[in-house]
Amino acid sequence: MKKVSESRRSFLKKGGMLAAAAPAAASGILLGTPATASAAPMLMTSKVAPLPKAKGPRVVVVGAGTSGLSVARGLKRDNPKFDVVIVDPRAQYQSCFCSNLWYGDVVNMEYLANHGYCDAGAAIDYIFFQAACTGVDFDSNICYTNRGEIKYDFIYMAPGIDYDYTRMGVNDPETEYYIRMNYPGGWVMPTEQVSVRNKIQGFTGGVFVVTSPSGNYRCLPSPYERACVVAGWIKKNKIPGKVLLLDMNPDITIKAKGFHEAYNQLYPDIVEYVSSAGIKGIDPWKKEIKTEFKTYKFDEMTLYPGVRGGYLFEQLGMVYPESQQKEANIDAHTYNLKKGDKKIHNAFAGGDSRWMPFSKSGNTSQTEGFHIAKLITAAEAGKTIPYKSPHTVCYSMVNYDPLQAIYVSLHYAYDKKKGMWQFARVQEDDNRDAAKAARYLEWGKDMYRNMFT
Ligand SMILES: Cc1cc2nc3c(=O)[nH]c(=O)nc-3n(C[C@H](O)[C@H](O)[C@H](O)COP(=O)(O)OP(=O)(O)OC[C@H]3O[C@@H](n4cnc5c(N)ncnc54)[C@H](O)[C@@H]3O)c2cc1C
Repeated sequence: MKKVSESRRSFLKKGGMLAAAAPAAASGILLGTPATASAAPMLMTSKVAPLPKAKGPRVVVVGAGTSGLSVARGLKRDNPKFDVVIVDPRAQYQSCFCSNLWYGDVVNMEYLANHGYCDAGAAIDYIFFQAACTGVDFDSNICYTNRGEIKYDFIYMAPGIDYDYTRMGVNDPETEYYIRMNYPGGWVMPTEQVSVRNKIQGFTGGVFVVTSPSGNYRCLPSPYERACVVAGWIKKNKIPGKVLLLDMNPDITIKAKGFHEAYNQLYPDIVEYVSSAGIKGIDPWKKEIKTEFKTYKFDEMTLYPGVRGGYLFEQLGMVYPESQQKEANIDAHTYNLKKGDKKIHNAFAGGDSRWMPFSKSGNTSQTEGFHIAKLITAAEAGKTIPYKSPHTVCYSMVNYDPLQAIYVSLHYAYDKKKGMWQFARVQEDDNRDAAKAARYLEWGKDMYRNMFT
C-alpha cells in the first residue's frame, strides 16, 4: 500500500473516534456552514390519514430504518397495547449495513432486502403507512404526512441522514446532481447501492476513487471497508487498476491497525491511502478531485460527501444548536426532542439523526432503539427509567478471498466533569480472520430478525 499524508495541518484532534465524532464546538472540526434552526412551513393536507382507529395509545414512528423499526419492535414487545404506526415513503426495505458485502458477492440481494414491511406489520402487529412526514404540530399532537394527518399520543422520529456536498466544496446544484446521479456513495438510498455495485463489478481499469468524509459520518469504518471491496475485486479479477482512498481525516478513524495491515499486506500495489485529503472541489465532467494541495484524476468513483441530520429537523426548526451537521435537538439522556431548551414530553428522536457523538451505525441505532421503546413505555405509565448507553458493534470485511474480518465493540459514558462523552468497555480486534467473517454474516441476520420478527 502506498500511504501519503497530504496536509500540513490536521482539522481533527487526534485521540480516537469520539474526537472525530464530537460536535464541532467540542472537537474543533470544520464542517462547513453553521446550522440554522429556522423553520419552514409544514405541508398540510387538511385530511385525516386513512388508518384504522387507534386501539390503544398511538405511537407514530417516523422512518422505517434501523432505528424506527427497532423502536417499533421494542414498543410492541414492552407494551402490546401500543398502537404503532410507522410512516416512511420507502416501499421496500434494503439495508445499508452489509451492503459492502453485496458489492463483493459475499451476500446476495435477498440477504439485504428480503425483509418486508407488510410481513413485519402483520407479525408484530403494527401498521406500516407508506407516506412522508411533512411536519409535526407538537402542541396538538398531529403528525402531518403527504397522505393526511395522524393524531398521536407519542411520536418517535428517526429520519436518518442526508448528504452535505458543500463539505467537499460542491456548492452548485448542477455539479451536485451530476455527482448524485453518476458517482453516488451508497450511504443513504438503496437505489445508490445498485449503481455502486455496477461500478465496482463493471470496473475495467484505471483509478477508482473512494472517499471518506470528516465529521461524524455514517458508519465510520465503511469507507475503509469499501476500499477493501474494490481492491479485492481488482485483485481477484486481475484488473489493471488501483484504489485511491482519499481520507479527509488525519488517519483511519476506527480499527486503524486492522485496515492499515489489510492495505499493506493484502493490497500493497492496489490501495493508495491519502490521509488529511482536504477535498475542496470536484469536477465530475473532467473526472478531477481537487484537494488543498493537489488535483487527482479518476476513472471511477463512489463519493461519500459529508453527512447531516435528516432535513425534517431543520424544517421543524429543531436542529441542535451546536451541531454543524444539522442534527436533531435531543436531550442526550432521555431522548426527548427539544424546542430550544424545552423538552417535549411525548416526542422522542434518535438513530443517525442524533447530535450525540455516538457511532452512526446499525447496532448503535438498534440497541438505542430498544432502550427508547422502554423510555416511551415508561413515559406512558408515568414513570422514568435510568439512562442506558447504546452498544456499537461493527465488523468490517477486509479480505474477500478467503473471507476475513476485523471487529470493534464499545459503549459510551458521559463524563460530567469534562462535559463530554467517552468510550467505555472498548474491545477492538484487528487480527483479521475467518471466524469474525462468519460472525459478521450472523450479526447481520440477527439485526434483521430483531427488526422484522
Ligand atoms: C455501506 C454501509 C455500511 C454499513 N456498515 C455497517 C456496519 O457494519 N455495522 C453497523 O452497525 N452499521 C453499519 N452501517 C450503518 C447503518 O446502516 C446505519 O447507521 C443505520 O441504518 C441508521 O439507522 P437510521 O434508522 O438512523 O437511518 P436509516 O436506516 O437510514 O432510516 C431512515 C429512514 O427514515 C426515512 N425517512 C426520511 N425522511 C422521512 C420522512 N420525512 N418521513 C418518513 N420517513 C422518512 C427514510 O426513508 C429511511 O427509511 C452501514 C451503512 C452503510 C451505508
